[in-house]
Amino acid sequence: MRFDIITIFPEFFGGIFSHGVVKRAIANGLVEIGLRDLREFTHDRHRTVDDRPFGGGEGMVLKPEPLIEAVESLGVAPRADRDTARESVVLLSAQGAKFSQAVARELSALERVVLICGRYEGVDERVNELACDRELSIGDYVLSGGELGAAVIVDATMRLLPGVLGNEDSAAYESFGRPDEEFAGEQDGPPRSTHGAGGLLDYPHYTRPAEFRGLAVPEVLAGGNHDQIRRWRRERALEKTLRNRPDLLEKAELSAEDRKFLERLKSRR
Ligand code: SAM
Repeated sequence: MRFDIITIFPEFFGGIFSHGVVKRAIANGLVEIGLRDLREFTHDRHRTVDDRPFGGGEGMVLKPEPLIEAVESLGVAPRADRDTARESVVLLSAQGAKFSQAVARELSALERVVLICGRYEGVDERVNELACDRELSIGDYVLSGGELGAAVIVDATMRLLPGVLGNEDSAAYESFGRPDEEFAGEQDGPPRSTHGAGGLLDYPHYTRPAEFRGLAVPEVLAGGNHDQIRRWRRERALEKTLRNRPDLLEKAELSAEDRKFLERLKSRR
């Protein structure tokens, strides 16, 4: 899979893709990341990428000409002819649809994603209309530029590609993961490092030492009873999701046992 990032700060990405899983995926040829310096698509002495907003108001706006030229230089198909099942041009924007694990899954099925990083007050809207397939926001807050958002999207998307994580199941068995039903028949034997989360948050993890500063690892985890461990993990995931992200419970795949457990938790509150 290839990502191309259009930015006025290509040096921003100097270290961000040089660690851990991302670094390995690039070294193994599973992922390519290209950087396009927006200023290389300007034609004036000052390499101007921005201008004042029509209608007045605060700040500056990224001009359309360099951005459209930068997209065209990447050889992606014009928007009208684009096969969006293969490639997608994404505008990073606080006004975008919210990026999520589900969107990361969608993007990971593509061969190529172009990410346009805005700056200042944002990007001339015609760039969106002429070149972009979607606008994505990484959360309900305003960043000073799209670069952090692009890095988040690259990271979350590429770790879903086959071969990128050492253990193929890691991405399925974690927060926002697939429901247990998709792993039917795989629930016997020792519990995996995680347990199909089914849209819930992940459960808490523990490693050695068994006791740390007066806090012991929950007994059940050392007990070796696989069914009890699975149930304990499921209940902790339900508990954590109810506490931190109750909205996720509305769409999560819940069994009758899960629902009963949640009712008990709520009645204790
Ligand atoms: N005037 C814009 C607004 O109120 O929506 C904010 C512009 S922001 C200061 C500059 C750039 O940062 C945006 O063009 C976008 O590329 C990026 N950005 C800001 N917040 C973002 C977010 N939550 N997700 C993704 N990109 C964001």
